[in-house]
Amino acid sequence: MARYTDSVCKLCRRESVKLFLKGERCLSPKCAVDRRGTPPGMHGKKQTFRRKTSDYGTQLREKQKARRIYGVMERQFRRYFEEASRSTGMTGVNLLAMLERRLDNTVYRLGLADSRAQARQLVRHGHIEVNGRKTDIPSFQVAVGDVIKVRSSAQSKTYFKDRSQLLQSAGKVPTWLKLDLAGMSAEVVGNPSREDVEIPLNEQLIVEYYSR
Ligand code: SF4
Repeated sequence: MARYTDSVCKLCRRESVKLFLKGERCLSPKCAVDRRGTPPGMHGKKQTFRRKTSDYGTQLREKQKARRIYGVMERQFRRYFEEASRSTGMTGVNLLAMLERRLDNTVYRLGLADSRAQARQLVRHGHIEVNGRKTDIPSFQVAVGDVIKVRSSAQSKTYFKDRSQLLQSAGKVPTWLKLDLAGMSAEVVGNPSREDVEIPLNEQLIVEYYSR
């Protein structure tokens, strides 16, 4: 499976916005957007002074932003869009809900990781199970009634012990998930609504991009 391996801070600089791809570092003065707000590359500074962006450019940037936040490659993102447009309801909202219901995002939203990339790694390394079965596919779509749990073999690891303490003080979980801290598990109790997506994204622009 192809994946992006270059510096993720370049992605934030490209979008001229913090995408929060690196956990704690994003909140520190080391953040590349705070230090150098220009797009990457030798012509980055010039691009800052470019004139008005076209409609297409705006739509493209919004789509790229969403893709980069959730760590999804182009082909898969387009598949999400096609499935979202076939489902009932608003395509943009359906698309965001599908992105939210990815297993790596769910693990991140539960607070078990500092970033989606870290959550993806936890899933990839087989530390997570869904409905009692080890699930190491980050794109796995969780559904209402599913129980996501840190596998018992991983619960004794220092990382998860520290996490559990951290979660006790933080405890901020979206409404579509019900966290059971003692069991290091959570149940999906609903579908993510538009309000549950905290990222400032204009999904309509993404729909317009793919509807050209
Ligand atoms: Fe983006 Fe985080 Fe890097 Fe800042 S530190 S540029 S928010 S990934």
